[in-house]
Amino acid sequence: MPGMAEQALDRAAALLRGATRVAVLTGAGVSAESGVPTFRGGGGLWEGQPVEQVATPEAFLDDPERVWRFYEQRRRNLLPIRPNPAHDVLAGWQDRFPDYTLVTQNVDGLHQAAGARGVLELHGNIWRVRCAGCGRERVERTVPLPELPPRCTACGALERPGVVWFGEMLPQDVLARAWEAAEQAQVLVVVGTSALVYPAAGLLEVTARHGGTVIEVNPEPSALAFIAAIALRGPAGEVLPRLAARVGGPR
Ligand code: NAD
Ligand code: ZN
Repeated sequence: MPGMAEQALDRAAALLRGATRVAVLTGAGVSAESGVPTFRGGGGLWEGQPVEQVATPEAFLDDPERVWRFYEQRRRNLLPIRPNPAHDVLAGWQDRFPDYTLVTQNVDGLHQAAGARGVLELHGNIWRVRCAGCGRERVERTVPLPELPPRCTACGALERPGVVWFGEMLPQDVLARAWEAAEQAQVLVVVGTSALVYPAAGLLEVTARHGGTVIEVNPEPSALAFIAAIALRGPAGEVLPRLAARVGGPR
């Protein structure tokens, strides 16, 4: 990233140093350098599978085992994956800013693995399963699962991955808290999202409408790049440590 404007980094750092209320929104790009594939650009395929056959409620009704095989594969791929320096910076900032909210569209749990607390997971978490019958939710880190699809020990119904599928509502309490953080944020740092998936992408608009400044960290301009006052063009695992060094440690 030799050509990246030092000036843009300096401006971003100055804004963050002057802020007490900071929010961050991450997408698949923040985990790319950990080795997790991003989603867009796959031509409607997700790890080789048509999305509508593996990540929709209809697909689960039609063939729960197929859906589970896809998630088992993703869970297996994620097992050896570790957070990268971008996750580390974003976890460390919880001790730097008095009012800090980390919102993610990712389901990989890597923010928490880096030590982040209170992460607002808009799209759920692949390490949770939820009963499709009684709604009981539990953490499940066993890979492979002993039985596919897994069944709820409380009511006997099928369990499903604890993620939000295409065409489903987001968890409304989580979305409301993310919305409020975006409204209040003096600075919103948006990292590694294509900003094509709503309502998550709407958070950029919320911050801008309320007078906050949006900083985009992404090698490519996202769909909402025009909303960002500052663009830091480069991989998150390189840009964020450089930015954090300029912002400095806890005050
Ligand atoms: P996306 O795949 O649509 O977009 C990824 C973005 O990351 C792109 O804009 C790309 O330019 C950028 N990017 C690529 N490498 C980067 C890097 N090293 N540093 C910074 N940015 C980088 O992802 P999205 O916007 O999150 O939307 C996809 C949906 O799929 C989300 O809802 C998400 O839940 C889901 N998803 C999650 C994961 C995960 O949990 N890790 C992975 C794939 C998809
Ligand atoms: Zn149940």
